[in-house]
Amino acid sequence: MRDQILAELRPRIEKLKAAHRPPGLAVILVGNDPASEIYVRNKIKTCGELGIYSEKITPPDTISTEDLLGMIEGLNQRNEIDGILVQAPLPKQVDKHRVLVSLLPQKDVDGFHPVNVGNLVADIPGPRACTPAGIMEMLRRYDISVAGKNAVVVGRSDIVGKPMALLLLHQNATVTICHSKTADLAGECRRAEILVAAIGRAALITKDFIRPGATVIDVGMNRKPDGKLIGDVDPDAVKEQAGAYTPVPGGVGPLTIAMLMANTVRAAEQRLCSR
Ligand code: NDP
Repeated sequence: MRDQILAELRPRIEKLKAAHRPPGLAVILVGNDPASEIYVRNKIKTCGELGIYSEKITPPDTISTEDLLGMIEGLNQRNEIDGILVQAPLPKQVDKHRVLVSLLPQKDVDGFHPVNVGNLVADIPGPRACTPAGIMEMLRRYDISVAGKNAVVVGRSDIVGKPMALLLLHQNATVTICHSKTADLAGECRRAEILVAAIGRAALITKDFIRPGATVIDVGMNRKPDGKLIGDVDPDAVKEQAGAYTPVPGGVGPLTIAMLMANTVRAAEQRLCSR
């Protein structure tokens, strides 16, 4: 599915190149967090495969908020940069909110700027958070209907849980959002015809959380002591109980990067149109 989404972007990228220039993505990676380095490497690599211009900016983890804002302002001004991504997590001394609102909303390819979050809430077109957008794309391409279904999203983060719930709601699912204070998590999950786990707890979702035949989307990426990746859903339980499911690794992760590429291409097209 990732390859299919990327293949569909190629002619659009060629058209942009012929009309003007390739789309451009700038990624700011602060410090040396090993997981972030891997994510950023994969994003830059995918840009290279598609012919999207990319730039990696790597300030030290001692950077101040003001210096980071100055960097973003420079990227906001640069014409050949269509998308700007600030890789999380940021160091403690950096004011994350000021960083977020300093991005030009039209260059916010993560869809995290409050203007883009507002557009999401109001169902107005705009860049959507990449992981939930990738999940919706997957449901659509696998012909898994959403309208009228009971959908349960476990996790309420700004980057996965909340935008996921809103996207499902806009497609007319009946949506429940669960979190660490939910009284009967297993009971809520068992009602789900579509269950999205975005928790960050290895194999928390076991057999008795899964309604037989449910579609189970595992967003979790948890590292086991042996270094292997495991999702939020018990892999044996999901095989036995679900009608369809996404595995970890694989599944949702590669789609997230594909949607980042799609957001970057769309940002370039829109900037070209508005010149
Ligand atoms: P956060 O830590 O920001 O949010 C986790 C959410 O899970 C919170 O809302 C929290 O509740 C809830 N939660 C934690 N423990 C429990 C529990 N025992 N029962 C019920 N709910 C619980 O994580 P993210 O949303 O950023 O990421 C979630 C997972 O998805 C992580 O494993 C992350 O690595 C992965 N991820 C994967 C991506 C991909 O591309 N595949 C992209 C982004 C994330 P509360 O709000 O009450 O604290």
